This record gives sequence, structure tokens and C-alpha cells, in this order.
Amino acid sequence: MTAPVLLWLRRELRLTDNPALRAALATGRPVIPVFVLDDETPGAWAPGGASRWWLHHSLAALGADLVRLGAPLVLRRGRLDFEIARLVAETGAVEVHAGTPTEPWARAAYRTVIDAIAPVKLRCTMTALLHHPDEIRTQAGTPYGVFTPFGRAVRAHGPIALPEPAPADIPGGAAVASDDLESWGLLPAAPDWAGGLRTAWSPGEAGAQARLREFVAEGLDQYRARRDLPGTDGTSRLSPFFAWGEISPRQVWHSSAACEKFRDEVLWREFAAHLLWHNPTLPDAPLRAEFAAMPWRDDQAGLRAWQRGQTGIPIVDAGMRQLWHTGWMHNRVRMIVASFLVKHLMLPWQLGEAWFWDTLVDADLAQNAASWQWVAGSGADAAPYFRVFNPVLQGRKFDPDGAYVRRYVPELALLPDSVVHAPWEAPALVREAAGIRLGATYPAPVVELAAGRDRALQAFAALRKVA
Ligand SMILES: Cc1cc2nc3c(=O)[nH]c(=O)nc-3n(C[C@H](O)[C@H](O)[C@H](O)COP(=O)(O)OP(=O)(O)OC[C@H]3O[C@@H](n4cnc5c(N)ncnc54)[C@H](O)[C@@H]3O)c2cc1C
Repeated sequence: MTAPVLLWLRRELRLTDNPALRAALATGRPVIPVFVLDDETPGAWAPGGASRWWLHHSLAALGADLVRLGAPLVLRRGRLDFEIARLVAETGAVEVHAGTPTEPWARAAYRTVIDAIAPVKLRCTMTALLHHPDEIRTQAGTPYGVFTPFGRAVRAHGPIALPEPAPADIPGGAAVASDDLESWGLLPAAPDWAGGLRTAWSPGEAGAQARLREFVAEGLDQYRARRDLPGTDGTSRLSPFFAWGEISPRQVWHSSAACEKFRDEVLWREFAAHLLWHNPTLPDAPLRAEFAAMPWRDDQAGLRAWQRGQTGIPIVDAGMRQLWHTGWMHNRVRMIVASFLVKHLMLPWQLGEAWFWDTLVDADLAQNAASWQWVAGSGADAAPYFRVFNPVLQGRKFDPDGAYVRRYVPELALLPDSVVHAPWEAPALVREAAGIRLGATYPAPVVELAAGRDRALQAFAALRKVA
């Protein structure tokens, strides 16, 4: 029997436009698809709780598709290098095909895989991005640190290849023992907190394709007008499908030619990966070194109030509760809650990054780290440190009728629009009529907004003086 190749899938859980799958098929050999759940590699960013829920359903869907095509998915759990080497030995595979890893810890782990399977070769193909992060360079040959010229350079780089259809069948190899997906315990049991996730999402490639079709048909032409309004269904909600590679960026790119503004966002995703590729400490340390001296506060009660959506600031609480219930938060509100944590509460951005990592279904190392650093002001192309979002004004501007706040903070539902973003400003009688007692039915603000802003500005100004 012809010796097989392994198709090692990690964050490209799809059959459509999957260059690693294409490369494996091009060998003409039997293909054995494998997925390894790695919670053990030192320094690995193992998936958080919400991502594990997603992953379970995504693997179940992919497994069913692969059985239909003739090559069942093999599941293994353990360190990437041990498990891939074991599979090579068990199957007699002559090559391993994989997607190019973009996370620093994964790049290091793949190097250990290369050593572990030698002389068998690991062949990586870019599956996650439109371009390899080394392909886009300034004229001086350096990486980009600012989005606008990066985006311009990608657009000038030449046409983006058309997506390739899924294969009609995959020649499978001899049967290989696989873990049982259920035995991995990726789904929450006691308590089962995933009810809101089940209502909100259909993980897997079919769900991704359906979401893309629906968005292109019904949302793309309104995207520019509605993308900043969290009370509307104005954005694509493709992010969790992107995070696990259930949809290809080339397919999304070619489906969205009618809206350059939307394509810009896809390029922000590329830019975050570019930043992480060239700055491997991005998830852990501020890119601007002076920020290491920031006098962050230690405020466990404030952190907990933020995590639970109990800060007393309606738009912040609505966002944090949307995150908790659905595993996702609107981008505008992500910026507001992040600014509130880092500036009004003066808590380190890494705490927010870690909470998002655990609770987002779209948790992505590059986008999460780059975005937190952007909001904190410590990133390459960051918001200026003195930009402190006023969450009340942001709420009034982007959720003018309070629809978003009322949906996720129902205890405020009966307040008039004029005060729904600042219940403490409402006359006592109005609050009473709406059934609200501050500090009892809804918290009083954990920080007085003007005082919190001043405290942050003073700290940032001191930091700049030192720098
Ligand atoms: C503090 C903070 C943390 C974030 N963490 C993550 C994360 O872990 N994972 C993640 O996917 N996104 C993250 N984002 C970026 C952004 O909020 C989400 O990508 C977006 O809300 C996803 O919704 P959508 O798919 O409907 O976006 P759309 O508006 O429909 O955009 C389409 C796609 O473009 C990309 N995109 C959109 N906005 C951004 C952005 N600001 N930066 C980079 N790429 C973008 C996403 O891949 C998105 O799916 C974060 C933003 C902030 C402010």
C-alpha cells in the first residue's frame, strides 16, 4: 500500500480553499487528517473556555465532513511534537502537511515538531492569511508598524488568488486509532454556561459559509453605515469562524468586493498578524517600553465588577454581559470596555486580554493582543494615550435609543433614552418610576468618570516625562 501523508489541521478547520489540504492531495498519496489538542506545550496559549466550546462543535462538524469524503479525522491529545511524531511512526507517513503557524509559541512548537519527525519533512502552507507576514514590507525592507500604509501596501501587492473549492473526495489511509471527542470534555458540564452560545452560533464550516452568504446578501451594503451601532446586527460576525479557520480570508475577500470599508477590517486582521509575527512579545509586554513603568492599580473588586458587567456604567456592563452570554462583543463596545478597564480603572491591559481570551469565541492571539495594546496606548499604531473614551458619550452616540443597553442590562429597560446611559443623572423620581435603586437594583458607578479620567491622564503624563 502507498505510504500516506499526514494533514495536520490546527487553525484551518475547513475543506474549502485550504492550501494545506491541497498540498497534501497534490502528493497523490493517501491523506490522514489529524488534530492534536495541546494543553501541554510550555508557553502555549491553550484555548480558553468559550473557544473550547466552539472547538468541540467545529471538530464534530469537520469530522462528519471528512468521513463523508473518505478520510476520517484522527484526534489526539498531548504535546504537539510528541503526538505528531507518534502519528508519523504509527502510520508510516512520508510527509506532514500543515498550515503555517502565526503565533510565536506555535512557531517555536513547530520547530520542535520538525526535529521530532526528521527525516520526515513538515511542509507548511499559509492558510490563515491573505499573505505571509514576511511578504509585505516597506520600501526599506522593514515590517510595517502603522496600519494605513500597511493596508495600502497589501492592496498594491497584486491580485489575491481566487479561493479553491473543497475537494469532492479525499483518498484516506489505513485506519488509525483516534480519541473520542466527547472524552476531551471541551463542553462545560457543571455548570453548563453555554446556553447563550448555543443560541447565538453554528460553529463549523457549513455555519461559516451560511453566515458569509447571509452577510453578503443582507449586511454588506449597510456595513459602512451600521458597523459602529451595537444595537443593530451591522457587522458580519465572521470572527469566530476566522479564529478557527473555518472560512478562508481569500473567500471573504473575494465575496466583499462591493464594500472596501469591510475589506479594511479584513486587513486589520492581517495587520494584527503582521505585528505579532514581527513582535513575538506582543501578547505579554508593551511594545512601547516606557509603558512597563505604568503605575497600574491592584483592584480585585474593580476587576470583578468589570468582568461581571456590574460597574454601574451601562454601556460597559452591557458589553461585558453580551460577552458572558454570547461569547462575542461588538467591536465598538470592545473598545469602550477596554478603555474603561485600562484608563478609568487603571488595571493592566493584560488582565483584560486574559479575560477576553477565556470568554471570547473568536479569541485570537494577534487580534486580541494588538487591540488591547492599541487601546492602552502602548502598541505600535496605538490610540494616543490621552484619548480616554467617555463611556456615557460613547453610549449616547452609538446606542442613541439605548436598544443595546436595554437588551443586556434589562434592569435599566424602563429608563428614558436621555438617561439610560447615565442612570445616576436621572432625577430620583424618574429612577423610581423605572424601578431602579442605585446600589440595590443596579450598581452605582465603581469610579467617578471625571476623577478616573484625570487619574489616568496624570499617570500617562508622568510616564511620558520619564520617557
Ligand atoms: C480589546 C479588543 C480585543 C479584541 N480581541 C479580538 C479577538 O480576540 N479576536 C478577534 O477576532 N477580534 C478581536 N478584536 C477585533 C474586533 O473587535 C473583532 O474582530 C470584531 O468585533 C469581530 O466582529 P465581526 O466579525 O462582526 O467584525 P466585522 O466588522 O464584520 O469585520 C470583519 C472581520 O474583520 C476583522 N476585524 C474587524 N475589526 C477588527 C479589528 N478592530 N482588529 C482586527 N481585525 C478586525 C475580523 O476578523 C472580523 O471578523 C478585538 C478588539 C478589541 C478592541
